[in-house]
Amino acid sequence: MIEVERLLKKFGEKIVLNGIGFRVNNGEIYGLLGPNGSGKSTTMKILVGIVRPTSGQVLVDGVDPTRDSIKVKEMVGYVPEIPVLYESLTPGEFFNFIGSVRGIPKEELEERVSQFVEAFGIEEYLDQFIGTLSFGTQQKVSLISALLHDPQVLILDEAMNGLDPKSARILRELLLEFKKEGRSIIFSTHILPLAEMICDRIGLIYKGEIIVEGTMEELKERAHEENLEDIFLKLT
Ligand code: ATP
Ligand code: MG
Repeated sequence: MIEVERLLKKFGEKIVLNGIGFRVNNGEIYGLLGPNGSGKSTTMKILVGIVRPTSGQVLVDGVDPTRDSIKVKEMVGYVPEIPVLYESLTPGEFFNFIGSVRGIPKEELEERVSQFVEAFGIEEYLDQFIGTLSFGTQQKVSLISALLHDPQVLILDEAMNGLDPKSARILRELLLEFKKEGRSIIFSTHILPLAEMICDRIGLIYKGEIIVEGTMEELKERAHEENLEDIFLKLT
């Protein structure tokens, strides 16, 4: 479960998050939507302990990332907006590196690597330098590396970026499976039909504030609009 209360973040004098609050239950996919620069990635970086909030309270499965960011990283699978990988390692080496940092037993690691490598169809790239791979393939490496420690909480910042339709479908199915297993998933995206398809609830963030939140049905009712794109255009 993710709990966020009165979260404020300033960079210098600039207020980037203006007291936002929301909750992601176990077994729930929460979509964080909003225009460029509205604060989605900053919120997610605070959840993983990469950025410190100015004030407010954040708990990820009961752990405060400002106090114990190492514990949070063990529990969370985080996919950043832009893959952060080692260009001079191969995906195979990178997965082993993640395995040793996260303390994943060898057999478990090998099993998960082969499962996800096959699912995303990147077998042929396992021995090439990451720096030579296409953006979409790097995104797949980033995704797989976030899943290897079998995290209970997933924080996915535009994780569909660069994925071809087949891989996007595989990720979608994987997320629905994770949800059934009771994991909490927060998912930012600009692909509104995707948000409509997989998110249980949506929080629409605008200039650092969540201006509406709810299920698709609730959002439609409140905005008197039929689809998420019209709701988005009307409210932001
Ligand atoms: P996008 O849809 O483009 O990914 P976003 O909603 O993820 O946007 P953020 O990346 O959270 O937006 O950025 C929110 C605001 O915070 C932006 O104005 C950005 O310039 C600012 N910001 C983010 N990180 C920093 C930083 N380290 N220093 C100063 N300003 C920052
Ligand atoms: Mg962002």
